[in-house]
Amino acid sequence: MLESSFFSPPLLARRERCPGCGHGAARTLHREAFDSPGIRRYMREHYEGRVERDFAGNAYELAQCEHCALAYQREVPTEPLLEEIYDRWLPATERAAVAARWGLEDYRYLAGQVEFMLEHFGQRPDSIRALDFGFGWAEWAKMAGAYGVDVCGAELSRVRIDYARSVGIPVGDAARLPDGEFHFINTEQVFEHLLEPGAMLNRLGRALRPGGLLKISVPDAGKAIRKLAAGGDFARLSHSDIMPIAPFEHINAFTYESLAALGREAGLAPVRPSLRKLYNASSGWLAPRSCLKTLARPIYRHLYPKSTFVYFTRPA
Ligand SMILES: [Zn+2]
Repeated sequence: MLESSFFSPPLLARRERCPGCGHGAARTLHREAFDSPGIRRYMREHYEGRVERDFAGNAYELAQCEHCALAYQREVPTEPLLEEIYDRWLPATERAAVAARWGLEDYRYLAGQVEFMLEHFGQRPDSIRALDFGFGWAEWAKMAGAYGVDVCGAELSRVRIDYARSVGIPVGDAARLPDGEFHFINTEQVFEHLLEPGAMLNRLGRALRPGGLLKISVPDAGKAIRKLAAGGDFARLSHSDIMPIAPFEHINAFTYESLAALGREAGLAPVRPSLRKLYNASSGWLAPRSCLKTLARPIYRHLYPKSTFVYFTRPA
């Protein structure tokens, strides 16, 4: 058991204002002690028994902003705890373990996104300047590079930065992004982790060229929020319900509406992409298991948008 001494830095910090829009008015959707049976079971399963800390006396709190409707965790990990979570708690996040979980469909899906980007702009790939923000193991950046796109990345993890550079992806400083530089910015499973998603979207929006596109893809927390608001607790949520509101990790819990509001605050508008271009950029139609998904995805995602995969544009 690790004991935090009087002199060690605090493990949790409290967010008193909405991290999306900065307003202070929020209602508490759910409050539950970190050592409740439901949260302890989730932690034990998710981190495979690696957590040696006792969070007794602290509580998980999910608040919802009364201005932009973003749901967010109030108690969030500080730097020392974040390092512990990502370096010691999470199992199998090294590159080989992640790559072992990827199949043809996953790469096809990435390729389809890159093809859609190129179809959307209708320019030669090498004239498209793209940024993969928070690139992880750089799968999107590598795919964009394979299509000839002028792609670079930004990332916090030193081992992932070294890997990206080793495969030829230039890595820039996220704090010093040039204004008006990029046609396309990719963010995949990034915004749910950010301490200040509103400030970051402002910065990324400025880095876009007028008419550029910014993709945000985050877990959809709608179902979990509804269940908690109806009096549920962690003991009654399934593992997949918990994922979008995961304690310590997914500290911002989005729905389509709150994601669109975050974009609005940053001066960005959701775009409805051309279905013809989306379909033209997808393959795998003849595989029986994937063809329905291939057909349905552009419709539920972009025609009647309710999903938390959104292309935003910076109005020209
Ligand atoms: Zn807000």
